[in-house]
Amino acid sequence: MTQETGGFASLGLHPTIVAAVIATGYEEPSAIQQQSIPIILAGHDMIGQAQTGTGKTAAFALPILSRIDPSKREPQALILAPTRELALQVATAFETYAKQMPGVTVVAVYGGAPMGPQLKAIRNGAQIVVATPGRLCDHLRRDEKVLATVNHLVLDEADEMLKLGFMDDLEVIFKAMPETRQTVLFSATLPQSIRAIAERHLKEPHHVKIQTKTQTVTAIEQAHLLVHADQKTSAVLRLLEVEEFDALIAFVRTKQATLDLASALEAKGYKAAALNGDIAQNQRERVIESLKDGRLDIVVATDVAARGLDVPRITHVFNVDMPYDPESYVHRIGRTGRAGREGRALLLVTPRERRMLQVIERVTGQKVAEVRLPDGQAVLDARIRKLTNSLAPLVGDAESTHGDLLDRLTADIGCSPRALAAALLRKATNGQALTLDAVQAEQPLVPNNAPRERSTSDRPERGDRERRAPMPLGEGRARCRTALGARDGIAAKNLLGAILNEGGLAREAIGRIQVRDSFSLVELPEDGLEKLLTKLKDTRVAGKQLKLRRYRED
Ligand code: ADP
Ligand code: MG
Repeated sequence: MTQETGGFASLGLHPTIVAAVIATGYEEPSAIQQQSIPIILAGHDMIGQAQTGTGKTAAFALPILSRIDPSKREPQALILAPTRELALQVATAFETYAKQMPGVTVVAVYGGAPMGPQLKAIRNGAQIVVATPGRLCDHLRRDEKVLATVNHLVLDEADEMLKLGFMDDLEVIFKAMPETRQTVLFSATLPQSIRAIAERHLKEPHHVKIQTKTQTVTAIEQAHLLVHADQKTSAVLRLLEVEEFDALIAFVRTKQATLDLASALEAKGYKAAALNGDIAQNQRERVIESLKDGRLDIVVATDVAARGLDVPRITHVFNVDMPYDPESYVHRIGRTGRAGREGRALLLVTPRERRMLQVIERVTGQKVAEVRLPDGQAVLDARIRKLTNSLAPLVGDAESTHGDLLDRLTADIGCSPRALAAALLRKATNGQALTLDAVQAEQPLVPNNAPRERSTSDRPERGDRERRAPMPLGEGRARCRTALGARDGIAAKNLLGAILNEGGLAREAIGRIQVRDSFSLVELPEDGLEKLLTKLKDTRVAGKQLKLRRYRED
């Protein structure tokens, strides 16, 4: 985005603002900033259309800060944002850019926090009000004059505000402000509903449209993987074993799915949490903070809950459920590769969703390559690599500090150093599968791919040819649960062996076996299930009672 005009200094912004922006580390204005700033500074109404991550916040914040009068202690600019998170993000950005402007204060107004302090901050002379429409309307009902002095209005993520049903609130807010105000609207998309608002409430708006699709997407490596709907969780778990990620956001379609996937990930020891519209807002904010500072590594979110989320640590986006349209695909993957960093985006595609993949490829003008689920060998290699990385720094001078102890222990125990080191490794790895057989027994569940026509050169990989994937749970199968899991020293092959031997079933009759930390799930034939469970009543595995029961998922 190099501009021969000379960066922020040439746009007409107030010098203290230019200084603050340069102090934040921005070198050049982005395209939307370059084009919008002069228009907003000149006092025009404007419609700005640009994708997520293009720097829209500064595009309106910088000129507005240049235009307000810090000596007047009254609201002068109102920014409307769809969610509390976005409102806070925008308010924080304003504070950063206004750092060198004494006397300028910013108040964030949103639901889920007491109204009193918000109103007080407005009355105390905050010049910048950043608000969600719903809460702002609550304030207007108490005091219809709060916005009477506002002469700059920004609608940020206008399309999202309408999707969230804020249309009526917006109309109330428009009425509460002077007609002479400047109005600026930013939106990633411009559906008819937004155009209608612009028609009614903007005066001869200038249009700025930034085509950033290729730009937004190029820093992001994209891939897709074919998988059956009921195997997504296990596919995600296996992918996570081999992907080297810093922080990751996984998108699903429903609130329930955020909870389910987040708890499956937590059960595997990942620092994961769900983010959805039902989660109390202060809790949501904590989740985002935790993702930022590393207390969390994975957030499982719905589109609405993650909109605008800006966490530079995010290296990976997993589209576990297909987005509803190509635009939201672009938004989602824009959560990684922030501000020019590299990112990786993976899309899980079920057989029925292949059309949507084609649409996405057409709209973004890019091919989304197909990748395969890592096989047992790849998972094993990744585990050993992680183990190597964690142990290597520990070697150091350990021999000089603990070498003598090792000699003494091997002598006392009467074993070789190799035997003792192996025992310590077993303890340190806590029962994790670290041989090919053990890894494959643990993860026999996902067929490499959904069925599809393939060329003869397009062979399934080794691990999967050896182990034909069982049917997905369907007609005629029931899922059963036992309270025995990995922490009881159980592996899939133990369960399989026990059920085959004591249940007298054929191998094909047994479906997927999923071993979790504290429980396991086994798919068994529905036909004759009660009998089978009675037969297995006293079966013991690894010295413990199996106690297999029918499992109800809801
Ligand atoms: P949008 O609202 O378009 O999704 P944001 O305003 O949230 O984008 O900006 C995305 C990220 O880019 C933020 O982390 C922001 O600090 C950073 N950013 C914005 N403008 C610049 C710039 N000119 N140079 C470098 N980074 C920038
Ligand atoms: Mg934004």
